[in-house]
Amino acid sequence: MGLFSWRCKICKKEILAPFPAGNKWSQAVVVFENGDVHIGEYDGYGRINGGDLVDAGIFTMYHRHCWEKAGKPMEFAGESDYAEHQGYFFEEHELRRDYPIEGGWKFDD
Ligand SMILES: [Zn+2]
Repeated sequence: MGLFSWRCKICKKEILAPFPAGNKWSQAVVVFENGDVHIGEYDGYGRINGGDLVDAGIFTMYHRHCWEKAGKPMEFAGESDYAEHQGYFFEEHELRRDYPIEGGWKFDD
């Protein structure tokens, strides 16, 4: 199965795949409709902390960064939209512009 992702409910930008690992835009928070909350790195393939999100229920997804800035909302806020770039397939200039990371993005020539 290929990469896929969702949009952050706050900033509307995509939860990125963890390449490079630990980039802040792949650090995510998931709040399920039933109240369960999971925080960790999104793996790009539908899992957070090893737990599968697909078929696990309806959830709101956030970047951890946005969720913390918003005061850590713990309530389900509606289903998150799918991410059209699958959390990965961006042009370099789009990543540099929309998803700044510490140290900057490194691309192979
Ligand atoms: Zn966000």
